Amino acid sequence: MKDCNCIFCKIANGEIPSATLYEDDSFRVILDLNPASRGHALVLPKEHYANLFEIPEDVLGKAMAVARKVGTRLFEGLHADGLNIVQNNGESAGQTVFHFHIHLIPRYADDSVKLGWKPGTLTDEDKAQILDLFG
Ligand code: AMP
Ligand code: ZN
Repeated sequence: MKDCNCIFCKIANGEIPSATLYEDDSFRVILDLNPASRGHALVLPKEHYANLFEIPEDVLGKAMAVARKVGTRLFEGLHADGLNIVQNNGESAGQTVFHFHIHLIPRYADDSVKLGWKPGTLTDEDKAQILDLFG
């Protein structure tokens, strides 16, 4: 279902023009307007799902296949040295547009992209509690 107030619904469905790298019946891949690196692109499903928790598994699988296809072309065509796939869910995780999307971020040896965290330590208590969730 399309969400009429959602900018990515409008872009994905062609109501707002975008720099489109790839399109099929279910997805559009566009260049990010504020790229982290040269070639930063976004995989957008044409249907509206707010995040990873809402998107159906079959659509997610197809989205990853599109991410690999377009990511490979970006990686090769732009002579990148690496490629990050980033997918944010929730404000705390950095999500600013609440329509599921996958970031394709080509990486270059001399780029200034910062994606990271300070490594912590897995405590025995956390390990036990979290393993319990999956028991
Ligand atoms: P996120 O923070 O994961 O929700 O990512 C949203 C991304 O969408 C950011 O990288 C923005 O630069 C990008 N963005 C927002 N509006 C547009 C737009 N109209 N066209 C292209 N990219 C956009
Ligand atoms: Zn939407």
